[in-house]
Amino acid sequence: MTHTRCLIIGSGPAGYTAAIYAARANLQPILIEGPQTGGQLMITTEIENFPGYPDGVEPFQMMDDLRRQAARFGTTFVSGSVTNARLGVPINYITVEDKDEYEAETVIIATGASAKFLGIQSEQDYKGKGVSACATCDGFFYRRKTVAVVGGGDTACEEANYLSNLCEKVYLIVRKPYLRASKIMQDRVLNNPKIEVLFEHNTLRLTGENRVEGADLIYKKGEPEEEIRHIAINGFFLAIGHKPNTDLFRPAVECNEEGYIIVRGDSQATNVPGVFAAGDCADPHYRQAIVAAGSGCKAAIEADRYLQA
Ligand code: NDP
Repeated sequence: MTHTRCLIIGSGPAGYTAAIYAARANLQPILIEGPQTGGQLMITTEIENFPGYPDGVEPFQMMDDLRRQAARFGTTFVSGSVTNARLGVPINYITVEDKDEYEAETVIIATGASAKFLGIQSEQDYKGKGVSACATCDGFFYRRKTVAVVGGGDTACEEANYLSNLCEKVYLIVRKPYLRASKIMQDRVLNNPKIEVLFEHNTLRLTGENRVEGADLIYKKGEPEEEIRHIAINGFFLAIGHKPNTDLFRPAVECNEEGYIIVRGDSQATNVPGVFAAGDCADPHYRQAIVAAGSGCKAAIEADRYLQA
């Protein structure tokens, strides 16, 4: 059993920033990196909106900078995922990969969120055979082919633009008659000749022998113009939002209906004394790297104050 004053779970901007602050407060934090070192940002192409990088930055570069900054002040990194958590005063018990046990006086949960799926059967049937939730990871396999991206937010637009650099054609399947994405992302999509936006379309099923070869879509479902349309595609990319990674901490840690951890008022404190939450796992509103980093800072300062009290 390893004892620590501060254990941080997650290696995105929230986790690393919490580690920088906790380490500089001499808490000698241990940070459990989780299934994807660097977190969700690692699957985006380029980060253009994090202050301090006027020319944009590649995700790997930014996360490596944050990690090295946390290491410089004495953070210990543990690779692996948390498999069990028993949280509560006077001490919290965390298990990593079902074998390594930690007892922590304070815990900062910064586990982020994971991509959502539509919930149709063919997504499962064609997983790894043309269905993906990460254009940056899998786009390369679809060079000079035709793909579809589902969603109307910034992620969907970013992925559609990214794929248009590799693919012959990109359909963007949007369930509403408008895009939810920021204006700049909308403009990039709408002015891209390789992207065709299919407004008011929903996906019914994917088709194909052994791999995705097409999709049946329903246009204007429930309206007089309702119509089933088929598109020929080789790849189907989901970009419809995320689910917070908080299952392990419930029910001890209070969450809202969507699973986001509820923090108290203006702080990062959860309902469990000594347990704090930061980043996307506790943020249904902004879900931005800079906000996550700020909340990681707050969580570490609060953990330090809790220990002092
Ligand atoms: P969002 O929640 O913003 O958008 C999700 C999109 O998926 C919406 O268009 C939504 O439709 C659609 N959707 C949800 N469920 C379904 C479904 N079952 N069927 C069809 N469509 C569905 O998520 P994002 O991941 O795009 O963005 C999350 C946050 O991250 C946002 O704040 C965004 O601004 C930010 N972000 C910023 C980036 C940047 O600045 N570079 C890049 C990527 C993300 P509807 O609109 O109808 O609800």
